[in-house]
Amino acid sequence: MKVFIVYAHPEPKSFNGALFRTAQDVLKQTGHEVKVSDLYAMGFNPVVSRKNYNTVKDPDYFKPQIEDMYATEAGGFAPEVEEEIRKMEWCDFMLWQHPLWWFGLPAILKGWVDRVFAMGRTYGGGRLYENGVFKGKRAMLSLTTGGPAEAYAKGGFNGDIHAVLRPVHRGILQFTGFSVLAPHIIFAPVRLRDDQRKDILEGYARRLRQIEMEKPVDVGEY
Ligand SMILES: Cc1cc2nc3c(=O)[nH]c(=O)nc-3n(C[C@H](O)[C@H](O)[C@H](O)COP(=O)(O)OP(=O)(O)OC[C@H]3O[C@@H](n4cnc5c(N)ncnc54)[C@H](O)[C@@H]3O)c2cc1C
Repeated sequence: MKVFIVYAHPEPKSFNGALFRTAQDVLKQTGHEVKVSDLYAMGFNPVVSRKNYNTVKDPDYFKPQIEDMYATEAGGFAPEVEEEIRKMEWCDFMLWQHPLWWFGLPAILKGWVDRVFAMGRTYGGGRLYENGVFKGKRAMLSLTTGGPAEAYAKGGFNGDIHAVLRPVHRGILQFTGFSVLAPHIIFAPVRLRDDQRKDILEGYARRLRQIEMEKPVDVGEY
């Protein structure tokens, strides 16, 4: 497969960093072609502005989706946006590695979505969900939490983690046509012993060696 890994953690020595390196190593060893976007290392600017584009449709009123559609027609995306869109278009499997921050994506990753999932190029014109632009591609979240597993069970202290992740699974990935694999969630890695974390990295490597065979899951609707 052609694999695109998007990584969002500011500290390379973090457990997210270890999961990211594990994924790169294992997927390359098992014969997949791998491209990555290490958003903090790239200094990726997550803010939507006219800097998204080399083109201008309406100089008087900045409406991002109108500018997205014009840039789609005119080939007008700024190089840092165009490069990321091309990586998504290129891949068969997209993997995001990130911590859960405020029940959602770290801002740098959310902003990457805001800029890169451009109207016209990645969705729109009736190309949504089952008919989405990225139909036939698969995506998976690999994430860590601060809270323990029991806090994220249905009826738990924080509530069902699958409900927490639904805006990303349903509203971003499925919306644009990706089929979603079960998320790989490591609950509270900071509370574990070093040997337990090493076992977790091995378990992740085992899963990734077979990832091509996995079937998508039902992420639920609203
Ligand atoms: C802004 C913000 C918002 C947050 N919101 C939420 C929230 O809504 N819900 C929630 O549950 N949590 C939340 N958190 C907590 C956050 O999700 C966790 O701190 C994070 O997921 C832990 O992952 P990490 O990679 O940062 O861990 P780290 O603290 O970097 O790593 C954990 C441990 O693993 C060790 N480690 C690193 N590499 C290896 C290796 N190769 N082998 C073995 N051990 C290793 C590290 O040394 C460290 O001791 C939030 C945190 C922030 C900063």
